[in-house]
Amino acid sequence: MSASPSSISIPAELRPADGRFGSGPSKVRPEAVKALAARAHDYMGTSHRRTGVRSVVGRLRAAMAELFGLDEGWEVVLGNGGSTGFWDAAAFSMIERRAQHLAFGEFSEKFSAVTAAAPHLEDPAVIASPYGSHPVPESADPAEIDVYALTHNETSTGVAMHLNQPQLDGARSGTTPALVMVDATSAAGAMTWDPADVDCYYFAPQKAFAADGGLFIALCSPTAADRIERIDSEGRYKPATLDLAIAVRNSRQDQTYNTPALATILLTLETAEWMLDGGGLAWAASRSAASSGAVYGWAAARDFASPFVTVSAMRSPVVCTIDFEGVSADDIAAALRANDIVDTEGYRRLGRNQLRIAAFPAIEPSDAEALTACIDYIVERL
Ligand SMILES: *Cc1c(COP(=O)(O)O)cnc(C)c1O
Repeated sequence: MSASPSSISIPAELRPADGRFGSGPSKVRPEAVKALAARAHDYMGTSHRRTGVRSVVGRLRAAMAELFGLDEGWEVVLGNGGSTGFWDAAAFSMIERRAQHLAFGEFSEKFSAVTAAAPHLEDPAVIASPYGSHPVPESADPAEIDVYALTHNETSTGVAMHLNQPQLDGARSGTTPALVMVDATSAAGAMTWDPADVDCYYFAPQKAFAADGGLFIALCSPTAADRIERIDSEGRYKPATLDLAIAVRNSRQDQTYNTPALATILLTLETAEWMLDGGGLAWAASRSAASSGAVYGWAAARDFASPFVTVSAMRSPVVCTIDFEGVSADDIAAALRANDIVDTEGYRRLGRNQLRIAAFPAIEPSDAEALTACIDYIVERL
């Protein structure tokens, strides 16, 4: 006799304390929401051009520089539009002529489509690999390729990559160096990296930063800042909302060009300061590693489950994609959802019998473990 997914009731003692395992928007810490409520009167609903809000933006910029260990000269640039908006901004403000993209999932492909469609840019070089793996960049003359577009964590497939790519060292030096741009939307705050390997590390805070969407944060090296300025001085047409030169000038004043979501900014600051208080980026990354380690370890020990990413070095420490055999992943997700454990559904376009489980720092590693016990409980009954 097999039970229907929605009729399975998981005992309370097995359930995680918090049932949010979505890969974005992701679990927002209740403590951060409380901190936001505490600022209901003196911060929310006040001008982003005045010191109240600007001091919060200033703290956010400082917290980012500290968390990521950025040297003098790096810019912490904020603007509206999330990571998708930042792709458009990069096409106008950061890519000179031609980009090389590593395409290995939904998000990295979307960025390559942006530069392919931009009439002022040459068709990009796209290096693809099968889903579940990542390709490596190929060094070219800076006159041929002026931006290398990498993705720290491909959220759609659960594949992560190291940003240290020494074969690009030559292209990144000289008088007109190429830039390494990294989409870190689901990795930023959950994976360690070395700023020496990167020129622009950008993200939106509704994933590992446990905040809300709509904002982009771009950490720009002096070389990337120079590029923005040079393209600006060349007089290329740029819509103002996608003009990173304008964004840099506003960010230096702890402002954004147009009105931002104030709640998103405060929630992001709450998470960044929570990470710093806990011990910094390595501490935050260790929480993700503990949660994802529990999920992968559990999957390896079950004959009905296995990690989708077979090369363990490419396996994401923040988004676990788990294939199932002999049992429907959709049914498991439906049963979990019936018990208020949500957003574990696999990524549709992959078309696999799969669950996708976030392991962001805000998620308690004990909750990730509890989730695996809940899945066992469901599989026994389906
Ligand atoms: C979610 C995501 C995006 C898109 O972010 P938005 O803020 O929704 O535009 C881009 N890249 C990656 C890797 C993502 O995970």
